[in-house]
Amino acid sequence: MTTIDADKPRDTVDPKMIDGKAIAKALTARVAEGVRAFHAECGVTPGLAVVLVGNDPASEVYVKNKALQTHRAGMRSFMHMLPETTEQEELLDLIGRLNDDPKIHGILVQLPLPTQLDPVVVTNAIAPHKDVDGLGEVNAGRLSLGIPGLVPCTPLGCLLLLRSVHRDMAGKHAVVIGASSLVGKPMAQLLLREGCTVSVGHVQTRDPAGLAREGDILVVATGVRGLVRGDWVREGATVIDVGITRVPTETGKTKLAGDVVFEEAYPRAGHITPVPGGVGPMTIACLLHNTLEAARLGAGLSAGGLLEADGTVGLERAS
Ligand code: NAD
Repeated sequence: MTTIDADKPRDTVDPKMIDGKAIAKALTARVAEGVRAFHAECGVTPGLAVVLVGNDPASEVYVKNKALQTHRAGMRSFMHMLPETTEQEELLDLIGRLNDDPKIHGILVQLPLPTQLDPVVVTNAIAPHKDVDGLGEVNAGRLSLGIPGLVPCTPLGCLLLLRSVHRDMAGKHAVVIGASSLVGKPMAQLLLREGCTVSVGHVQTRDPAGLAREGDILVVATGVRGLVRGDWVREGATVIDVGITRVPTETGKTKLAGDVVFEEAYPRAGHITPVPGGVGPMTIACLLHNTLEAARLGAGLSAGGLLEADGTVGLERAS
């Protein structure tokens, strides 16, 4: 068996490996350039507000990382850390103020939320033009209707990773395992727009392994560590592993693991993303991208980024 480990640093470029870190870096540089141009044109610096409720350590790390990257891209970052006991009215009140604040162009409420808060109500309270996570009903509806809008960051990132290896996805069978509103469903919509034949598996799917094996493209987003074994992967398929589970290591620290058993899937896959270093960095880069898009649209400029008029996403494709 090939003994390749997604965690180990690699000295040479591996043509099978989809390097999310490098692609995210390129996208972030492109956003930073867009931010400078936007400021030169309108005198406005895009601002992103991130709201975190409670003190989940993993969420805190994500949120701080988002703030850091936002600054690096030349945008303003506004962090709102609320206690675990926050009531829905208080959170809705904050979102209302952020909606009205002209310095803020994008608002993201970090999920999951404590149980007293309804994520659907909270997400829908964000003004659609500031909904940079694209999870509200207006942007979700636009995505399904093919109208340009703000597209959820993780599936958008997955699409860009797929485009880095597929010049044209039309006619391919794309299988998405996981059907959440955050990842699986919007991913399926984006793949449909690429011209793929799309199948979506979920926890009630009778033979997810058999379904996965049908996929020329396989996107997995379940949160079940190691669900996808080598024999789930069609020979030559492109595998995108969205899953993130924190697992303890022998040294007492934690490391991230995906939904795919990487060392089994790697020999069969044509291309594959590692965890970490695959989808994760793309999610943040796409959040920055969406914030710039929101600011441009707010200033009455046409979206200058990756979303094309037909709602597809236009970053460089594989040649
Ligand atoms: P979720 O719990 O909302 O949805 C999970 C989906 O997987 C559901 O549709 C469920 O039916 C399906 N599922 C669960 N067990 C299954 C099984 N045994 N067989 C087939 N389908 C099964 O999760 P989510 O928010 O979509 O996130 C999924 C994973 O992606 C998590 O690990 C999450 O941490 C990760 N994630 C990563 C990023 C990133 O930036 N890399 C972003 C968002 C989510």
